[in-house]
Amino acid sequence: MRIMFFDHPTRQPRSILSLVIVASTWLATIGNLVLWRNLIALPDLSGWHKGLFVCAFALIIASVVTFLLSLLAWRYTLKPLISLLLLLTGISTHYMWMYGIVVDTPMVVNVFQTDVREARDQMSWQLMLTVTALAGLPLIWLWRQTIKPAPFKQQLQRNMVLFVGSALLAFVSLQLVFQDFASLMRNHTQLRYQINPLNSIYALLDLTVIPSDKPQGPLQPIGQDAHIDRLDGKPDQRPPLLVFVLGETARSQNFSLNGYAKQTNPLLAKENVTSFRNVASCGTSTAESVPCMFSHLGRSEFKNRNAEFENLLDVLQRAGYAVLWIDNQSGCKDQCDRIPNINTSDLNVPEHCEGGECRDTVMLTRIEAELAKLPAERRTRGTVVVMHQMGSHGPAYFKRTPAEFKPFKPECTDTSLSQCDRAQVVNAYDNTIVFTDYFLSRVIAWLKSQEKTHTPAMLYVSDHGESLGEKNMYLHGLPYSVAPPEQTTVPMITWLSPGFEQLSRVSTRCLQNQRDKPLSHDNLFHSVLGLMAVKTSVYQRELDFFATCEGR
Ligand SMILES: [Zn+2]
Repeated sequence: MRIMFFDHPTRQPRSILSLVIVASTWLATIGNLVLWRNLIALPDLSGWHKGLFVCAFALIIASVVTFLLSLLAWRYTLKPLISLLLLLTGISTHYMWMYGIVVDTPMVVNVFQTDVREARDQMSWQLMLTVTALAGLPLIWLWRQTIKPAPFKQQLQRNMVLFVGSALLAFVSLQLVFQDFASLMRNHTQLRYQINPLNSIYALLDLTVIPSDKPQGPLQPIGQDAHIDRLDGKPDQRPPLLVFVLGETARSQNFSLNGYAKQTNPLLAKENVTSFRNVASCGTSTAESVPCMFSHLGRSEFKNRNAEFENLLDVLQRAGYAVLWIDNQSGCKDQCDRIPNINTSDLNVPEHCEGGECRDTVMLTRIEAELAKLPAERRTRGTVVVMHQMGSHGPAYFKRTPAEFKPFKPECTDTSLSQCDRAQVVNAYDNTIVFTDYFLSRVIAWLKSQEKTHTPAMLYVSDHGESLGEKNMYLHGLPYSVAPPEQTTVPMITWLSPGFEQLSRVSTRCLQNQRDKPLSHDNLFHSVLGLMAVKTSVYQRELDFFATCEGR
């Protein structure tokens, strides 16, 4: 018996033109269901006007897709190209529909930097279903078609006609609705990242062939004059030990320290910490925020930088400190390239690891052994350790917390968050904050245990926030200009031991009085240098939020 699926097609061969038109029409209409849903929900247009606009918009997309396909509309390239576009459209549609995300360059960078575990978290039957419906079925149809062969010259002529014709059609249909189109795109910038498959094509080209506005050339050193300079000039009997906890996907408003109604910080509330409530992130994704957080440049300068520079950790190391990066996530985004670093996310420590993932507390099981490996002469000057958390990484929030850290129930256990009741999504997320509260309290407990030999302090700050269903948006990664505050307002918490207050002359009481001061990731570089008494020309005192509390 022969299986029908692999049967040789017996129907009439099709022309390249007809395949291009069918594919463009499918991609522009069915492939953009999320765009149409979002467009129809906007109050900007109404009635027949809205219907006409949607039709014209679809025609513009179809003609642009035709235009692009005409460049590679050859017998052996057309089917692979259409297949790629169908798959990109199917996958994007799922994430746009389920999480309200958009497809832009940083999002695609994040996809490439995602590790297997994160990818597994996001697999779901809904994803399979969407991809099958939007890409699988048309793919089966597509590959059953045979293409009518045409001589090279004739095909070239046809492609040129298609190229010019589609460009004209796109231009004319755009003219018909230009006013509405321009004002919609201006007022709702996120719409342009919702146009399948043009959003993915643009992001892929942006990453590959479009000349990068990212800096080229060698790494530029910074802070070459960096040195440790304490006012009293005495070598520290008990050298400073700073743990910089780099949080993940924690949003400020869900911390009870910052006024959240649910008790998500029961343990930190008992410590002498300062929780800054008004801190803006540099980006809305890990790939965007992390390098910016360790940079001496502020958010806008970092975005427009013309070279890659060394970072905070390089300067701390150059000043003479022992520096260590412990990563319990998918990597340090090049920030730990020149300093000792380890990854704990796939260790096999029974108490802390299960199902191929380790809780953030696993980092504390390794810290002493790893610190002991750092050069002794550096450790006598002081130590800075970065701990990169798995934190509240979504959408599988429920996987981030062990059973005993789930005070809020019921929690969503579906990775397709929009399938759950919103309250359950928030419960699952709040449980991750409770676990981070526990982790930070363990970090503080460990630091206290080091007080005989060190002068400890902790600084915790998250890389970006998270949407939990507000305005139908989930997760993070929206372009910064349109991102809601949930994605850009991050928690930042400091804990200074009494010894550290003395050493740095920064008082916690003074910091607590400044908890509502508007701060951002821009302050981090300079504040950590200030706190660690590193003197260098790259340090800017006015950005050091500890400096205002020095000697007070
Ligand atoms: Zn992140």
